[in-house]
Amino acid sequence: MALSDKEIREIITPLLLSGAKMLDKHCPRCGSPLFELNGKVFCPICEHRKREERVELKSIEESLIGKLRLLANQLPDDIEELKKHLEVMGMIVELLEKYKKMEEIK
Ligand SMILES: [Zn+2]
Repeated sequence: MALSDKEIREIITPLLLSGAKMLDKHCPRCGSPLFELNGKVFCPICEHRKREERVELKSIEESLIGKLRLLANQLPDDIEELKKHLEVMGMIVELLEKYKKMEEIK
């Protein structure tokens, strides 16, 4: 998803105000200018995207955990129904573990 000029300005303006320097180099990934702050060179656009992805992952995780709690609170007495419940819960736990790994990679 491409960021609009307005969004880019919203990311870059506070950087400039905080004393970051716009460099003469460009990000190899997205082509936006690189910045330097406290000796660290970074691409504000890519960092912004990474942060957004993390927020998305977090909200998926939270809704999965909510579902898991709901299921755990409504375990049926019927064995067949219980099996289905536990199966779904197992799937949710597996997914949560996958998300956790994805976050560790970043
Ligand atoms: Zn970039």
